[in-house]
Amino acid sequence: MREHRHDVVVVGAGIAGLYAALMTSDYMDTAVVSKVFPTRSHSGAAQGGCAAALGNEEEDSWEWHFYDTVRGSDYLGDQDAQEILVREAIPVMYEMEHLGVPFSRRSDWRLAQRRFGGHLKDFGKAPVMRACCAADRTGHAQLHTLYEQCVKRGVRFYNELFVVDLLVKDRICSGMVAWDIINGGLVVFHARATMFATGGYARAWKVTSNSHSNTGDGLGAVIRAGLPLQDMEFVQFHPTGLFPSGILITEGARGEGGHLKNKDGRRFMEKYAKDKMELAPRDIVSRGIQTEIDEGRGIDGKGYVHLDITHLGADAILERLPQIREMALKFANVECIKEPIPILPTAHYAMGGIPCTVWGLVLSDTKGTPVEGFYVAGECACVSVHGANRLGCNSTLECAVYGRRAGMAMRKWTLENEGCWPDIPGETVERAEEDIQQLLEASGKENVADIRNTLQESMVINCGVFRNETKIKKQLDMVHELQQRFENIGITYRGTKFNTDLTDALELRNLLQFSELIVAGALERKECRGSHYRVDYPFRDDKNWHKHTFAWKKDGTVVFDYKPVVITKYQPEERKY
Ligand SMILES: Cc1cc2nc3c(=O)[nH]c(=O)nc-3n(C[C@H](O)[C@H](O)[C@H](O)COP(=O)(O)OP(=O)(O)OC[C@H]3O[C@@H](n4cnc5c(N)ncnc54)[C@H](O)[C@@H]3O)c2cc1C
Repeated sequence: MREHRHDVVVVGAGIAGLYAALMTSDYMDTAVVSKVFPTRSHSGAAQGGCAAALGNEEEDSWEWHFYDTVRGSDYLGDQDAQEILVREAIPVMYEMEHLGVPFSRRSDWRLAQRRFGGHLKDFGKAPVMRACCAADRTGHAQLHTLYEQCVKRGVRFYNELFVVDLLVKDRICSGMVAWDIINGGLVVFHARATMFATGGYARAWKVTSNSHSNTGDGLGAVIRAGLPLQDMEFVQFHPTGLFPSGILITEGARGEGGHLKNKDGRRFMEKYAKDKMELAPRDIVSRGIQTEIDEGRGIDGKGYVHLDITHLGADAILERLPQIREMALKFANVECIKEPIPILPTAHYAMGGIPCTVWGLVLSDTKGTPVEGFYVAGECACVSVHGANRLGCNSTLECAVYGRRAGMAMRKWTLENEGCWPDIPGETVERAEEDIQQLLEASGKENVADIRNTLQESMVINCGVFRNETKIKKQLDMVHELQQRFENIGITYRGTKFNTDLTDALELRNLLQFSELIVAGALERKECRGSHYRVDYPFRDDKNWHKHTFAWKKDGTVVFDYKPVVITKYQPEERKY
């Protein structure tokens, strides 16, 4: 088996992974492994912006941004981590500007900023312009600049390698095993510091804004390594996915002044968030839209409502929302300059993930015992800054701020432990080899695509915007049944080069493993908080549920433990918008 050795190996070439690599590459031998070509990472799809209280357009402060992030998270975010996020946002945004990110600018050449849902001035009083952007292609601009900077600094890229398993024993991490998609064969990466920045995982749902590659592979590897995941029940549904696929129409469209309308042409958000209307946090807007649809006020009684931006005028749309126009035209045949866009809530962002400290160091339990040499950042991580619900534009920000911090932490760790190469657990490498061999020889009756479709469709129905015990239990049974069926899959192509049959199966294994923790967590949490809405427990229950969920898969069952939320300034209070 081939083996590569690097001081630092980062899995994932999105904003989080690349920012981390940037921080270590001047000091030590750094490699980035990615299953897609780096600039195809999902970060490149981020449209609307990246938040920082620069105050370029109007007065703003990090304290207001902090307040909004705490409240937006429905008080489940850890406030120490949230404060770091909003304070460091300001220098990090300027650092990105100086690295060369081509942000949109004002006429005085300072960075332009726009409104975004939940970002308010003066402790929740009125919308504020806080989101820096590059038109509606912000993530694309950030990702390409970071990639160029990494190439310039000599980061070694291993593209189109699929990381299968994490190498960890006795809470010491020594690297990972990956499948070489192009040439075939397993490759061991031996590292002194290992990082996962494997991104989001909303591909567990059929209606989703996420790339096909967002299948939670990092989470699957962590589950199989016997480590916990945190707050998995919290998955955000973005209010405006293009009907029917769920492709994202950025919140920037509402930030620029777009209206949501039902079949009667009425701006229904006045019923759900009278003051903030379309710019209320995403969980509230999504529930508003879903209620209109469920109660028969969708357009022509169908499963969508309208997002109307026609009144903004052609010039503003072409300058500020060009990609939205293109997508509405291409994927819905709608010219949004003249007609409203059909939209529905779409699975968008995972607040939960791999638990870690504010330096990205992975935790193995609720007491804070770390896994030495193992770091995470970005959407696959749970620091937790987004708690039960993320504010728009706080995610690319989290990737930058916490990717950067994880990079700094890996640098420190590697310098302090010069010459220390942890042993590779041979049994894990052998298990990965056996698993791949078994999959390559699999000749059962079950079809990978069928199982995946069934999972995705049932997650929309049973574990979506509105949840209840009956539906969630049904979904848990469904996931167990699909896990059983997975044991009997068949692979039709047995070659080793570009075997997408094999990688599809590896992805499905991960989807099934982490979905179980999402559904089991949703069943356990008997309250409504942020994105997690239980119609059978329609209130937030701070007495019993103001705590983080940790979930493990042990001896075939899901085991839970809980950890208090870090509060530094704001005690939970009711959210009114
Ligand atoms: C359509 C859309 C629009 C968005 N708009 C915004 C926005 O305007 N503002 C905002 O703040 N947030 C936005 N978000 C959220 C934000 O873009 C993401 O949360 C963030 O970019 C995730 O970045 P990341 O670095 O964690 O991972 P990603 O950019 O998703 O990258 C994941 C990386 O992991 C690699 N990887 C995964 N599995 C494996 C494996 N098994 N082996 C090897 N490599 C692997 C992939 O190849 C990839 O390089 C948006 C999200 C979507 C889907």
